[in-house]
Amino acid sequence: MKDFSQALLNKIDIIVENWIEAVRQDGQIESAKQLPYKAVRDSLPIVLQAIATMLSETEDSDIETLVQKSIEHGVLRAKQGYDAEEIAREYRLVRWVIFSTLEPDLLKGSSAEVIRACRLIDTALDEVIARCFKSYTDERLHDIEQVQSQLQLANQELTRLVRANKDNLSELAHELKTPLTSIIGYSDLFLRQQRQPNEPSDSLPNLGHIEKVLRNGRQLLHLINDALEISRYEAGKMQLHPTITDVRALIKNVIEIVEPLARSKDLDVLVECDRAPDEVMTDPLRLQQIVTNLLSNAIRYTKAGSIKLVCQLLPNNHWSISVTDTGIGINIEHQKQIFDPYFRVFPNDSPKQGLREQSYPANSTGLGLAIVSRLVKLLQGKIEVNSEMGVGSTFTVVLPLEVKISLDLEPQLNINK
Ligand code: ADP
Repeated sequence: MKDFSQALLNKIDIIVENWIEAVRQDGQIESAKQLPYKAVRDSLPIVLQAIATMLSETEDSDIETLVQKSIEHGVLRAKQGYDAEEIAREYRLVRWVIFSTLEPDLLKGSSAEVIRACRLIDTALDEVIARCFKSYTDERLHDIEQVQSQLQLANQELTRLVRANKDNLSELAHELKTPLTSIIGYSDLFLRQQRQPNEPSDSLPNLGHIEKVLRNGRQLLHLINDALEISRYEAGKMQLHPTITDVRALIKNVIEIVEPLARSKDLDVLVECDRAPDEVMTDPLRLQQIVTNLLSNAIRYTKAGSIKLVCQLLPNNHWSISVTDTGIGINIEHQKQIFDPYFRVFPNDSPKQGLREQSYPANSTGLGLAIVSRLVKLLQGKIEVNSEMGVGSTFTVVLPLEVKISLDLEPQLNINK
């Protein structure tokens, strides 16, 4: 009797190649785009080997490996940021690639042999999917718990802050309302569905709710942390820790952080540091925050083209970093307001684009440039913007080669207002 076990073993490499190709081609598995080959492949070859043992008439079925690898796969995909729909699509493709690659072999078998093989492969894949989703859900729930405890801590600090400082409070409350309403709504729905008898607890809609809770939780945390950063500055509690800083190394580090984001949008990242000072005396953490923020904005607000960072020495013991993008640009009116806390431009405010979309880009808080301008001030520098609608923007930061620590550095209030 043909069991197709050897046929599957012989074709593992082709199946893996075809599957990775299919995943990369699938426009809806976004998370795979930024990952290297090995991270997408994960343990598929081992899973296929285990399925081959199930098909074999002579070998013992290696169910244990199948289960173990599926559980690990779910955890890995959660860590890689896949959403549930993407995992479901990736398994749909596994099923399709296995059957289409084995088709010539299956056609040589009798009906009974083919039915047996299809049934076994389907059973194995169903088991793999169920285990993977279970571990994926557990991992996501763990993430939620972590975000929740971070939120609690941030919330405590925020409450303390609110007592001390009432500025910007109504705007902050307004900004917190949207993600919070969503978190509460979806958590409630999720819990109600979990409590229903006969409802599979790891079904796709449930996982979708977890995704939304997590996304909104993270957005909230991001917002609270940014708000805290601003108020620390306003209260004069943001301290400067100057050290000798290797400018090129710092820039290289930041570029490595933002590059995957640029790659996922097919943007070129160009760096020109030939005329940069080798070392400066500044606060490296604050400088890194400034550069990261400007680069991630440049990537966020650019659909196609490139992002260019130029760093150069200037006369009179100063130096500059400029970040230029080929993005949507900022009109003159808005250029005056972008450094104000909570100021954001609707993505479709441009008259060229049709209907106004009632949402901002993901992670948009309107606090990024407010923080950057305060950090630049703290580092005793200046920031300027030059921008043309539809052409792009350049943000230039000019800093002294050496920041001065003055003992009577007063809390710096109402900068840029
Ligand atoms: P956000 O979190 O909304 O990006 P920021 O304070 O960083 O907040 O930026 C404020 C606003 O300035 C953004 O909402 C966006 O409209 C605009 N902006 C910032 N950087 C750029 C850029 N490089 N190109 C176009 N618009 C930008």
